[in-house]
Amino acid sequence: MKLKFLGATGTVTGSKYLVETSRARVLVDHGLFQGHKQLRERNWTPLPVEAKSIDAVLATHAHVDHIGGLPLLVREGFRGPIHASTGTHDVAQFILPDSARLQEEDAAYANRKGFSKHSPARPLYDEKDARRALQLFVRWRYRQSFGVAPGITAELIPAGHIVGSTHVLLTVEDGGAPVRILFSGDVGPYDAPILPDPSAIPACDYLLVESTYGNREHEAVDPRDELAERIGETIRRGGRVVIPAFAVGRTQEVLYLINELVEQGRLPPVPVIVDSPMAEKATQVVTQHAEDHDEEMRERARSGAPLSYRKASFPRGRRGSSASARGKRPAIVISASGMATGGRVLNYLRALLPDPRNTVLLTGFQAAGTRGRRLQDGESTIKIHGEWIPVHARVAMIHRLSAHADRHQLLRWLRTAPQPPKTTFVVHGEPEAATALRDAIETELRWQAVVPEYLQDVQL
Ligand SMILES: [Zn+2]
Repeated sequence: MKLKFLGATGTVTGSKYLVETSRARVLVDHGLFQGHKQLRERNWTPLPVEAKSIDAVLATHAHVDHIGGLPLLVREGFRGPIHASTGTHDVAQFILPDSARLQEEDAAYANRKGFSKHSPARPLYDEKDARRALQLFVRWRYRQSFGVAPGITAELIPAGHIVGSTHVLLTVEDGGAPVRILFSGDVGPYDAPILPDPSAIPACDYLLVESTYGNREHEAVDPRDELAERIGETIRRGGRVVIPAFAVGRTQEVLYLINELVEQGRLPPVPVIVDSPMAEKATQVVTQHAEDHDEEMRERARSGAPLSYRKASFPRGRRGSSASARGKRPAIVISASGMATGGRVLNYLRALLPDPRNTVLLTGFQAAGTRGRRLQDGESTIKIHGEWIPVHARVAMIHRLSAHADRHQLLRWLRTAPQPPKTTFVVHGEPEAATALRDAIETELRWQAVVPEYLQDVQL
C-alpha cells in the first residue's frame, strides 16, 4: 500500500493525504493551501488521481486548511462519502458555503480590477459545489469503528483542537497483515479553555504528526493574565482592542475568558463587538456539543451560560459592520479571519492601526505571507484593500491561546503512544518547525521520524 503526501508539507496548510491499496483509494482531509501565492496556486493543481476514482474521504476537522478543498473535489467528480464527526459536519455547514462565497468574491474582485491571468477569473468553486459536498457527509460519533472502502476501516478519536476535531485511525488490509495508520489532524493544545485535552495515541504502525509549533514553546503565562493586562491598559488609555480570530474556536475561548475576567472583577464590563457572520452559529455549535466540553466548562455550564456575555453585540450586515468599525468608544472587537487574510476584521484594522492607543491581539498561529504574520513581525505599514496603512497601534501575541500544542506538548502527546511507530511522518509545519520536531523525536524519543516532501510517495 502507498501513502502520498498531497499537502501540508513545508506548510501548515493544504492538508491532504492519499492512501492507496490494490483495492481502494481513500483521502484523509482535502484542505486549501493558504498564505504565499505559490502555495495558493497549488489549489488549482489537479489531483494525481481522478476525483471519481476515490472511494471515500475522511475529514479530521472543519478548518478550511483541512476541508476547504472538498467542494472542489465534488466539482471534479467525486461522489463518495465524506466521513466526519458530528461536530465537524455541523461546523462544515457554514464554513464550506462561506469559503465558496470568499472564492466567488475574490474572482469578482479580480475581474473588476483586471489582474487575473484568466479572463474572466473563475472561482475555485461556488456555493452550489459546497452544498453538494455537504450532502456527502456521513456523521460518526467518536470512537465508533466503521467501514470506509474494501479492506479499510476507520475510527475518529477526539483531538481537543476545535469542536468536532479528531485524530483519524485507519486500519488497512492489502493482502498481508492489517496496517494501522494514525493521522494526528491538528493536536490540542492541553489545558485549553472549553475543550478536553487530546486523546492518547492508540497502537499504530505509522503515525503522521502535525508540527505547527514544532520549534516553539508557548509562554508559561496564563492567558487570563495577559488578556487582563493588555485589554485593561488599552481601555484605560481610551483605545480599542482588536482580536483577529477564527469564528470557530478562538472566538468562543476569548468570550469565555473575558466573561470570567469580568465576573472576577479583573476587567471592567467592557463592551465586546463580535463581528463575524459565522461567530453566532459557531458559538451555538460549540455550546451544543457537550461531548467536546472539559470538566470546567461543564461545571460552568451547570450554573450559567459561559459563552454568552451581557455586553456583547453582533453587528448585522456589511453596513452594520462598517458603522461599527468607525466607532471610537473603547471596546474589544473579535472578528475573522484569524490571520487577517480577509473578512470583516480588515475594516477594523484599517480604522484602528494608525492610532497608538489601540492594540491588536494576535491569538493563534500566523502563517508566513499573511497580514497577521506581518503584524507579528513588526512591519510598520500593512496593505489593506490596496492602501498602505501605518501601524502605530501596539501589537501583541497571546501564544497560550493557540489552538495547537507547542513543541513540548507535541512530545507529551507522542509519549502517550503505547509503542514506537515504525515511522513517524512530521507534517503540517513550516520547514524549520517540521525539522525541529523531527530532530526532537529522534533524540528525545529515539523513534524513526521523517519530514516528507510535497507529492512524495511512501510504500507502507
Ligand atoms: Zn486546525
